[in-house]
Amino acid sequence: MESNWLARYEDSMLGVFGAPSLVLACGEGVYVEDTDGNKYMDLLGGIAVNALGHAHPAIVQAVEKQVRTLVHASNFFATTPQIQLGEALREIVRGGAHAKVFLSNSGTEANEAALKIVKAHGNATGKHRILALTNAFHGRSLGALSLTHKAAYREPFAPLISNVEWIEPTRAALEDAFALGDVAGIFVEPIQGEAGVIEVPQDFLARARALCDEQGALLVADEVQTGMGRTGKWMAHHGSGMVPDVITLAKALGGGVPIGATITLSPVATAVLKPGMHGTTFGGNPVAAAAALAVIHTIKSDGLLERARTLGEQWMQRIRALDNPHIKQVRGRGLLIGIELDEPRAGMAVKVAQESGFIINAANPTTIRLAPPLILTGEQADAFTAALPGIIAKSYSEGEL
Ligand SMILES: *Cc1c(COP(=O)(O)O)cnc(C)c1O
Repeated sequence: MESNWLARYEDSMLGVFGAPSLVLACGEGVYVEDTDGNKYMDLLGGIAVNALGHAHPAIVQAVEKQVRTLVHASNFFATTPQIQLGEALREIVRGGAHAKVFLSNSGTEANEAALKIVKAHGNATGKHRILALTNAFHGRSLGALSLTHKAAYREPFAPLISNVEWIEPTRAALEDAFALGDVAGIFVEPIQGEAGVIEVPQDFLARARALCDEQGALLVADEVQTGMGRTGKWMAHHGSGMVPDVITLAKALGGGVPIGATITLSPVATAVLKPGMHGTTFGGNPVAAAAALAVIHTIKSDGLLERARTLGEQWMQRIRALDNPHIKQVRGRGLLIGIELDEPRAGMAVKVAQESGFIINAANPTTIRLAPPLILTGEQADAFTAALPGIIAKSYSEGEL
């Protein structure tokens, strides 16, 4: 009973995730170690969460200090880390004077708050259609699930919020959807992570912004996976010229400590939620806020935006330069990378990579996703690039998973 962790997991944990492939015991930097003492280079980073890698001294110190000082306060009271985080978030999202922050505990909660803003805005203005994109992933709680496209995730829980429509991420589909009017808001992931690292077309965000402005609809940028420097910018939409009404963040925000944020930028979005209309017990918890402050500080002080940008570009080029016949496309931005295979072997590649000491992920059956800590070095990235042809060869020789 002492070890045998996987059997004990299966015995005690609700089986919603499928069997885990490893039981991890500890980590440091970009490496994690399992309970048998095997070491792996973590190129998934807890699915784009561990932006500073594992056991980063800045997070360790911030959390340790905060745990000794004040762990929880309830939202009858403010805490200084929460206030400082609100200020820091306002700055990094470039929200300007109107930006306001609501702190929660996860991505799905960040989107719940955004959805409540959109719904209340729609109710107040007599608009009732909510748009999202095909292949969108916005979370698993019932509201965010209503926006998530995959039918298999939604159908067991029907009926969900019924006035959501999914449109293709094309300019034409966007124009058609808005032409019908009655749009309360639209949810967009600038790069769809769960769908396989798929970026919306170049002019999509700007056109969505213009249509929202024309019709008084709210534009929500779900930056849960793409935000916090993942793509080489604080937010993936930075550089598009588009300013959303609402931004949602989570994943990397706390560097592994659970925290989510819903940030309103436009005066209209900021004015929607009035006292009593939303809340949370743990959201804005000072320990999580202290961790998030350490993440933001370290990304700035260690130049991690620049690193994500330059290393990501270089890495994608080197993977392309492998000229592997099974790699159809290498796409992404910064350190969010999708490697599209010509057959559904990504699941097998994950298994083979793990046996070779690398943790990667299959975003879908044909796409390998890399979302490593932003502290990854060029040498570490090169080590994976060098191993990749062998991983692919073995994945193809072992059949479909
Ligand atoms: C992961 C993710 C979510 C959900 O976040 P949770 O913390 O798992 O609830 C929402 N949106 C996007 C884009 C995500 O990648």
